[in-house]
Amino acid sequence: MPAAMPTPAAAAPKPAEPFLPFTRPTIDEATIAGVAEVLRSGWITSGPQVKAFEARLSERFGRPVRAFNSGTCTMEIALRIAGVGPGDEVITTPLTWVATSNVILEVGARPVFVDIDPATREIDLDRAEAAVTGRTRAIIPVDLAGLPVDRDRLNALAKARGLRVVEDAAQSFGSTWKGRPIGSFGDFVSFSFHSNKNITTSEGGCLVLNDEREAALAEQYRLQGVVRSGHDGMEVEVAGGKFNLTDIAARIGLGQLPHLAEFTAKRREIARAYFEELAKAAYRALGLGLPVADFADCNWHMFQVVLPEERLAVRRSVVMEELRQAGIGSGVHYPAIHLFALYRRMGWKDGDFPNAEYAGRNILTLPLFPLMERSDVPRVVRALARILETHRKA
Ligand SMILES: *Cc1c(COP(=O)(O)O)cnc(C)c1O
Repeated sequence: MPAAMPTPAAAAPKPAEPFLPFTRPTIDEATIAGVAEVLRSGWITSGPQVKAFEARLSERFGRPVRAFNSGTCTMEIALRIAGVGPGDEVITTPLTWVATSNVILEVGARPVFVDIDPATREIDLDRAEAAVTGRTRAIIPVDLAGLPVDRDRLNALAKARGLRVVEDAAQSFGSTWKGRPIGSFGDFVSFSFHSNKNITTSEGGCLVLNDEREAALAEQYRLQGVVRSGHDGMEVEVAGGKFNLTDIAARIGLGQLPHLAEFTAKRREIARAYFEELAKAAYRALGLGLPVADFADCNWHMFQVVLPEERLAVRRSVVMEELRQAGIGSGVHYPAIHLFALYRRMGWKDGDFPNAEYAGRNILTLPLFPLMERSDVPRVVRALARILETHRKA
């Protein structure tokens, strides 16, 4: 018998560090048990869990809130309630998830993009003001990565020009403006509970409304326009759609809300760690564009850097692939919308919004989620720095 055969353990390669995705949801065991209870209850579509979830959200914001199956239909419904339609213009940013502008098309209106402020990466409100015409009916600002758009200037502009505001706050649940929760003031406020968002229902969203009349209309648009009365009364007032949230999803949301403060605190801690790491001399020289360092109001939905295109010999996709090989996930949020085929066919072209285009080509979302450890951050920054130095332009 041969002696000294290596044991399988000794022969196995050293386990690599586990893959670090750019995000992942945090769902506790009580929530998982709660979902199982809903499944056993005999009522799995919209019912008591949705009612309870809406009650919790309305309490939080002190305004009427209704839940839906996405944070896209919420914006479409807000535009419909505002009476926005064919012939109307709606001002928004080209650097956002394409849902933001698709809903404008969906109601038959025309999106009017204005360029971003490269520091915040969000709608430039000076440009928004200059873009207002006699046809402008609404503005949809987006709190990219959770950083709140300046609400004082936004609401002053809307008031001065008589515009409705649909805040695309899909990414800013838990953010504040000068200490006041986003959602607790303003006009329409739309949140998403997509799996990647700070609070999730797997898929879902909610809309904060101004009064009970708007809330009743939102309920009609949510489910085929139907209004019920008595045991058998049914009327249809508007051509509504199919946008209701299920009780299964709402139960997840009810299990998430109590963790909001803790999730936000952990996200801020990870974001701070990125700033501390990236402030080191060796990393400052990389020329990365950093986010606004807001630790008062921002919920740190994402930590996004902008790669220094002019100094790099490769494109972003190569950087992403090499990060992946180093066990690190990354994401792109987002390419500039006006350069998508659908929007090019409507007349937009390269060069229309240079700041959004530069960000769209070079922005990169690094890992940040509550289950991450602070010690993961140096590993991400080290890998990114190595890749950027390897591909530095001569
Ligand atoms: C996630 C998101 C949406 C859409 O939310 P869904 O729930 O996926 O429909 C809209 N706008 C922004 C900025 C988002 O991040």
